[in-house]
Amino acid sequence: MVISLKHQRFNIGKLDKSEIIRLLQAQGELQQDLFREARAVREEYGVDEVTLRGVIEISNFCQKNCDYCAMRASNPNLERYRLSIEEILSIVDQIKAANIGIAFLQSGQDPREDEMLEQIIPEIKKKGMEVLLCLGEKPQETYANFARLGADSYILKFETSSPDLYKHIAHTPLEKRLECVKSLQNLGYRVGTGNIVGLPNQTLEHLADDILLALSIKPDFVSSSPFIPNQETPLESLAYGNLNLTLNTLAIYRIALKNCLIPSVSALEKTYKGGQLMGLNAGANVLTINFTPDTFRNKYAIYSKQRFVVSLEHALRTIEQAGLKVKSPF
Ligand code: SAM
Repeated sequence: MVISLKHQRFNIGKLDKSEIIRLLQAQGELQQDLFREARAVREEYGVDEVTLRGVIEISNFCQKNCDYCAMRASNPNLERYRLSIEEILSIVDQIKAANIGIAFLQSGQDPREDEMLEQIIPEIKKKGMEVLLCLGEKPQETYANFARLGADSYILKFETSSPDLYKHIAHTPLEKRLECVKSLQNLGYRVGTGNIVGLPNQTLEHLADDILLALSIKPDFVSSSPFIPNQETPLESLAYGNLNLTLNTLAIYRIALKNCLIPSVSALEKTYKGGQLMGLNAGANVLTINFTPDTFRNKYAIYSKQRFVVSLEHALRTIEQAGLKVKSPF
């Protein structure tokens, strides 16, 4: 039986696996109620202004071989790059000039970037900005060193809660990734995590377990992204991840995790024109603007060669369409 959420505040105590599976499949009126509830929670917890992040994709070298990603080490057709310290700091200045307070540095898993990051992190902190990193699984000492130098936050998505599925597509143990998440939290980072919707052989049960895993981590940020079939990967012929399952996941994250920062990711827009607006309407409250220079952007092949690149104009328009405001950064 489908029970409408209307007139009935969502009861987190009832958020067991079968309830999550029911809500993941919400369509029509139930889905609209779910989104309305997510927006109400966002407002109630005072997180209904949209946080902007400025991302710089600093290197596309990667040690890993994730089947969904064209930056995988064994892709011989990708021209590799690593930005210089000067290039990165000059882009950070552009981010600050755009009145964005978060410098978000993302890359493949590239140990050779670590030395330059030791110089970059303190320089960004001197500019009064938050340093958000998304650089993959690194030794605990490296995370500790970056934290000591001023890094504030780190995103490491678990991608899927299924150890078998993770091992099958990423070829390394999920346990190691989760240990990294724990280390980052213990070191005092604000930590983000999340899942991908639409991986091969992924079931509704897996997706419900993803949500339960995210809740158990108690992250500061959480995301859900539809899978994007990427050229030059073993999964290039798989279908796109399901938009509604992803939006419903975002809404459940919002209702359960209350004041978390939840991005409406560019992969939503790639899956469906207007997808990021739908993400904001489902309870998200972060947009990430891409500041990677044009010459390198196409080589940062995370979603597809024709990925959707979020500009400041697109972000501001989307926020206005959602009837929201930008959170003042400084
Ligand atoms: N290398 C770091 C790591 O593994 O955490 C950070 C960069 S990685 C490219 C950033 C995120 O992109 C991954 O966590 C994954 O969720 C996402 N991603 C990459 N390719 C994707 C695809 N084809 N579809 C959906 N998400 C993808």
